[in-house]
Amino acid sequence: MAKSNHLHCSFCGRSRDEVKILIAGQEGHICENCVEHAQEIIVQELNNKAENNSANSGFKLNVRKPAEIKKFLDEYVIGQDDAKKVLSVAVYNHFKRVTQKQQQDDVEIEKSNIIMVGETGTGKTLLAKTIARLLNVPFAIVDATVFTEAGYVGEDVESMLTRLLQNCNYDVAAAERGIVYVDELDKIARKGDNPSITRDVSGEGVQQGLLKMLEGTEVLVPPQGGRKHPEQKMIKVDTKNILFICGGAFDGIDKVIARRVNTNAIGFSVNKEEQEMQRKNLLQFVNAQDLKSFGLIPELLGRLPVVTHLNPLDQETLRSILTEPKNSLIKQYTRLFELEGIELIIDTEVLDFMVSKALEYKLGARGLRSICEGILTDAMFELPGSDVKQLHVTKAYAEQMFGKSKLSALKVA
Ligand code: ADP
Repeated sequence: MAKSNHLHCSFCGRSRDEVKILIAGQEGHICENCVEHAQEIIVQELNNKAENNSANSGFKLNVRKPAEIKKFLDEYVIGQDDAKKVLSVAVYNHFKRVTQKQQQDDVEIEKSNIIMVGETGTGKTLLAKTIARLLNVPFAIVDATVFTEAGYVGEDVESMLTRLLQNCNYDVAAAERGIVYVDELDKIARKGDNPSITRDVSGEGVQQGLLKMLEGTEVLVPPQGGRKHPEQKMIKVDTKNILFICGGAFDGIDKVIARRVNTNAIGFSVNKEEQEMQRKNLLQFVNAQDLKSFGLIPELLGRLPVVTHLNPLDQETLRSILTEPKNSLIKQYTRLFELEGIELIIDTEVLDFMVSKALEYKLGARGLRSICEGILTDAMFELPGSDVKQLHVTKAYAEQMFGKSKLSALKVA
């Protein structure tokens, strides 16, 4: 044991005066040099482990047929049939491609990265998340707005793979078959269709950065994310088999579609009602051309060959979202009360009231949760520990609680 007046690093033996920092542990000390050295060993070990995993990964892919994928999605996501179908096929083909044996004839199935276009809160993230859950592959959600092109403030695009690695405990082989959901792709669109003479720092650089990664390449990933710096040890990840699903609201793209659709006279022969429907949801006609006009570069679109859309949520869909999904909000609250030994009864009228408020306040599906909270918070605060065995939520009670909650102040004029 070191005497306190002869402090030294228990790892390298350097004395207190030879080092800058000496960190005390229970039975010894460690200096800054040894901490750094230990960090290098950790990264090296993780890399070795990852390579071993790649060689004989115990990781098993759960490949399902498109109809099975769609059925699974139906359990968690309401409506959005077009997107579900397109996603199911794209994901199925992707995994067929990943698992296919090397063929003689050199027919190479290309990657089917996906773009989903739809208003915020319509279920884009939920779809991507549910697919990852079904397939039992690592999944990461990243936000395109935090990335910048090399040399500017922000994270390097490679760091989106850091999240994927972190989510599977640095098992590179698993990460290499994972799914990355890139949210807010529309925010890195360049402004306007024409390449500008002055460089557009905000968006185009990031799009360029994404290109190689989407296509499939070996990327050096900083294990802790953020910006790369020269001394950092990197983890090598091959993105060839990583499925990228991108999503965005693409606000205003309906006008771009309308222009194109009008000139192509789609809907010319259908009846008035259908024309009205089509006008209401122009997103269903979205294609790569529209996304290009919105400001995505053609090279990027080339690497995102599958384009699909999500419908805005109407009253009926919002109503179903409350009760139908496997882990619907009402099922979750019922369980929460059940765990307290309290039976929760909610009148049908209350569900309609919640939906009407979500629509009135333009809160969408995300708002349903806040509305439920607003109505049930008082009860969730007061009832645990009381003798009450049943909570019956009537419309009058819901209106009263909602009126008291902060939400009611949010009304948009
Ligand atoms: P987006 O990614 O399109 O902005 P999300 O997928 O994050 O939206 O949706 C937000 C929340 O709203 C989800 O967690 C889910 O609870 C609910 N939600 C949205 N759309 C649906 C849907 N079609 N079916 C079921 N729940 C939905």
